[in-house]
Amino acid sequence: MAEPLFLVENVTKSYRTGDVEVKALRGINLTLEGGEIVVMLGPSGSGKSTLLNIMGGLDQATSGRVRFADHELTSLSERQLTLYRRDHVGFVFQFYNLIPSLTAWENVALVTEISRNPMEPGEALEMVGLKERMDHFPAQLSGGEQQRVAIARAIAKRPEVLLCDEPTGALDSKTGILVLEALCRINEELKTTTAIITHNAAIRQIAHRVLTFHDGRISETVVNTERLPPSAVVW
Ligand code: ADP
Ligand code: MG
Repeated sequence: MAEPLFLVENVTKSYRTGDVEVKALRGINLTLEGGEIVVMLGPSGSGKSTLLNIMGGLDQATSGRVRFADHELTSLSERQLTLYRRDHVGFVFQFYNLIPSLTAWENVALVTEISRNPMEPGEALEMVGLKERMDHFPAQLSGGEQQRVAIARAIAKRPEVLLCDEPTGALDSKTGILVLEALCRINEELKTTTAIITHNAAIRQIAHRVLTFHDGRISETVVNTERLPPSAVVW
């Protein structure tokens, strides 16, 4: 059997603020296969973002092991982690963080200029259904369109993995569907391994696997045998 793309073993994370220690992760074990969509559910504070940030090289585990392909993330220096993020990971957050003075195309081009094997910005925008809007500025786009520009920016460097922290959290369900459609299309066409944190349980319908977090642990893992295309998702 092929090696998993991600291997997470016994990962813990504690944050210390003064005398108070918060155990954000209490022993996470997880593998992600190349090309799968994993949805992460669970209450606020259960550790979802902490795990995503560790997998994306934005933060380091307190103990345990995280491997991505042949990179042992838990033993990389800050400099090596920066290169890992730049070359392999796309991030999508709840808020789009586009640069207001740049068009959609220019926002994406900022990333492609510094990538090793980028797409054309127009190609990335086409994948999220926004080719016709590439000369628009963020203020001329709806929230869902801005999020799709952010997704185009995240995938334009052809990352192996796309980490999405509440990507539809600021959107209504109608525009949220378009964002999900874009993520599914990217997963199908580029085989991008995708992790999506969400509070919207309906998103589980597009997942290959659904992980539920509780108090720093994964309390349930469900393989979705009845996966739906996003157009068929019932919100
Ligand atoms: P979720 O994404 O599931 O809402 P988080 O991973 O953001 O949960 O947080 C898990 C726990 O870790 C929470 O108790 C949160 O307050 C704490 N936490 C997260 N980030 C920090 C930080 N930078 N400093 C201190 N505590 C943090
Ligand atoms: Mg979170």
